[in-house]
Amino acid sequence: MAPPRPSERPVALVTGGGTGLGLAIAGRLARDGYDLAIASRSAEHLEAGVRELAPTGARTLALATDVRDVAQVERLFARIDDEYGRLDVLVNNAAGNFPVRAEELSPNGWRAVLGIVLDGTFFCSRAAFGRLRRSPNPSIVNIVAAYAWLAGPGTAHSAAAKAGVVSLTRTLAVEWAVHRIRVNAVSPGPVRTPGTDRQLWTSPELVERILRGIPMGRFGRPEEIAEAVSFLVSDRASYITGEVLTVDGGQWLGRGLMEFFGEGSPPSSGGSPPS
Ligand code: NAP
Repeated sequence: MAPPRPSERPVALVTGGGTGLGLAIAGRLARDGYDLAIASRSAEHLEAGVRELAPTGARTLALATDVRDVAQVERLFARIDDEYGRLDVLVNNAAGNFPVRAEELSPNGWRAVLGIVLDGTFFCSRAAFGRLRRSPNPSIVNIVAAYAWLAGPGTAHSAAAKAGVVSLTRTLAVEWAVHRIRVNAVSPGPVRTPGTDRQLWTSPELVERILRGIPMGRFGRPEEIAEAVSFLVSDRASYITGEVLTVDGGQWLGRGLMEFFGEGSPPSSGGSPPS
């Protein structure tokens, strides 16, 4: 029997696509004309994601998958083959994170976060490779964070994992350029999602402190991260590969001495050095 004809519409797989930023990215890609696959562990997250994505009109395949498990990742890609017969975009968005001092971080906690973020990104990229090679405009976007190149005090596991993903982004960009597969990353600044409110910014004081460190003085919106992904996978970014696009209101640059000046007001000394 002849294999089924591939879908007419391009297909994007978003890991962790049932919640938070992954859901916003999936929604944006659906509106850009993609059919979707979303994958994460919890059926509840996936079902909620499918409901939210329904108004976009995109076909959405949702499959419970732990990206740490190679067999589950292979099953996911086999289902995408059966359902769509093609894959054009992979967004490695799934992650786990929790605040902990490095000396209190258990080997299991370390392995869990490295497993989801670094192993998961590699396992999915590796499985995607052969499928993406057949796409007219193939690309991968990895969701990282600025502590990949700064430091991640309080989240050593996630910072180390994201640093590995930035390195993998650049390496695969070079290795797979000959196959026309572009590999880029997006580094979001703080964007409030149910996940971050539960795991990271658990008090109003913490939220206030974070806001003070952002030059633009506000959290990002999920759609602003999705917009960057939409750009990177499109023809508008046809000569961009191995790049990390930061979308963070200037957060990683820090505010330096701006706190000293108050909200845009000049220093009380008028700027003269003390006599
Ligand atoms: P989130 O809603 O908690 O997203 C994490 C997603 O990963 C969930 O859908 C979760 O679904 C999935 N996941 C976790 N473990 C998994 C596993 N083993 N296998 C498959 N899927 C798994 O948080 P978010 O804020 O939207 O974060 C999305 C991405 O943005 C992450 O890569 C994060 O590091 C990055 N980021 C976020 C911010 C921010 O401020 N929000 C800032 C910088 C970077 P299940 O529980 O169903 O598995």
